[in-house]
Amino acid sequence: MMTSQVTMEELVQKYNVAAPRYTSYPTVPFWDNEAFSRTAWTDQVYQTFERSKEISLYIHLPFCESLCTYCGCNTRITKNHRVEEPYIASLLKEWEMYVALFNGERPLLAEIHLGGGTPTFFHPDNLRMLIEGILAHADVAPHSSFSFEAHPANTTVTHLQTLFDLGFRRLSLGIQDFDPLVQFVINRHQSLEEVEEVMQNARKIGFESINFDLIYGLPKQTLATVADTIQKSMRLGPDRISFYSYAHVPWIKPGQRHYTEADLPSGAAKLALYNLGKKMILAHGYEDVGMDHFAKREDELFMAFQQERLHRNFMGYADRFSPLLIGIGVSSISDAWGAFAQNVKTVEEYHQLIEAGILPVVKGHLLNEEDLLIRRYILDMMCKGKVQLQTGAPLNEQIIDELSELVADGLVSITGDLIQCTAIGRSFLRNICMAFDQRLLRSKTQNQLFSQAI
Ligand code: SF4
Repeated sequence: MMTSQVTMEELVQKYNVAAPRYTSYPTVPFWDNEAFSRTAWTDQVYQTFERSKEISLYIHLPFCESLCTYCGCNTRITKNHRVEEPYIASLLKEWEMYVALFNGERPLLAEIHLGGGTPTFFHPDNLRMLIEGILAHADVAPHSSFSFEAHPANTTVTHLQTLFDLGFRRLSLGIQDFDPLVQFVINRHQSLEEVEEVMQNARKIGFESINFDLIYGLPKQTLATVADTIQKSMRLGPDRISFYSYAHVPWIKPGQRHYTEADLPSGAAKLALYNLGKKMILAHGYEDVGMDHFAKREDELFMAFQQERLHRNFMGYADRFSPLLIGIGVSSISDAWGAFAQNVKTVEEYHQLIEAGILPVVKGHLLNEEDLLIRRYILDMMCKGKVQLQTGAPLNEQIIDELSELVADGLVSITGDLIQCTAIGRSFLRNICMAFDQRLLRSKTQNQLFSQAI
C-alpha cells in the first residue's frame, strides 16, 4: 500500500531517474568485454546446445528507406534494394557457421523472429530465399512460433502470403501514433487505412496473432492524441499491444535531435499519457502482462503470463523460452544463458568478417555465479512481479536493505524471502529491478547510460 504521505506525483518525481529496461542482466553497458572471446562464446553455444537442441533464432534485417527520428534501433537508411541479396548471403553463411558448431546434429527451431530495421523492406522472394536457406539446416520444433516486424506502409499481400507459407503466424505492426503532427515530427507515416488493410489481409490469410507497437512520450503527443491513437487501435483489435515508453537518448541516437526536449512530454505528463492509454486498453478487455505489454485473454502471451512461463529477452516479453537464442545479422545479440554476445554494428564490417569466415561477434559477457542469480531474480520480477530469494544466498540482506525505501513508498512488499511488486509498483518495475542490479549499484555512471525510468 502507498503510504498516505506519498502521492503518485511525488513518486514519479522521485523515481524518474536513468534506468535500464532489463532486457538482459547484466545490461549491455556492464558487460565485461575484456574477459569475453569468440572461443569462449562458441564453447558456451555448444554446451547449451548439448543440453537442449531447441533454438530461438533472431534475424536482424537493418535496412529502412527513411529514418524515423525517434528510432533507437540499429538501422541502415537506403533506397537501394540491391543490398538485399548480398546481405542474405552473409546471413546464411553466419547461420552455417553456427550449425557447424553442432557436430552434424540438426537444431530444432522453436522460434524465428525477423526484426530490424524493416524486414518488409526486403522483397518477398528474398525473404523466402532467406527462410528456406535457414530451414535447410534445421528442423522445426512442434509448437514453434515464427514472427516478423512489419511496417504497415510497405507490407504487401505477397509479403504476408509468402511468410505465412513459410510457417509465420505472428506479426508485429509498428504503429507508434496515428496523429498526423506526431507522425510528421517523428517522420513515420502510415494511415489508419493502411494499417487496417494489412490487418484484414493478414487475418484473411490466417495469421493468428497481430501485435501493435505503440509509443508514449513522443514529441508533440498530448492526452488527446494518445486517446485518439488508442481508440483507433481498439477499433482494429490487435491481439497484443506493446505500449512502450519513448527512450530519449540523443547522445546515442542523433536523429532524436530533430526535435527538442521542449517538444517532449516528461515526468508526470509522460506518466499521465501511459496511465490514460493503459486505462483505455484494460477497459477494452486486454490484460496487463508485464511492463508495457498487454494481450487478449486468448492470446499465447497472456496464457504464458498466467502460467508463469513468460520470458524477457532483447525483443521484450516472449511467450516461450529456449536456453539458446542465436541472433544473426548486424548488431544482433545472442544469449546462451551463461553468456551473451553481440555482432558488429556496421553492414560493412559484418560482410568483411563473414567473408573471412569469422563469426562476427565482437563483444559479450560470460556470466559468473552472482550474475546468474541476479539474472534469475530480475527476470522473475519483470515476468512474474515477484522474487523468491534463494535461501541463504549471500546477497539477500543487501537486496532487502536496498529495497527498504521502495517498501516504504509502497512499491514492493516483503514477506520472509518473498518480494512482491504491488499494484502501484508495476509502474516502477525498472526502479525495483535496480535494487537487485549489483553491477549498477557498484557503478556511478548510470546517468550517462540509460533513458529515464518514466
Ligand atoms: S523505427 Fe523502425 S522503420 Fe523507423 S528507422 Fe527505426 S528501424 Fe527503421
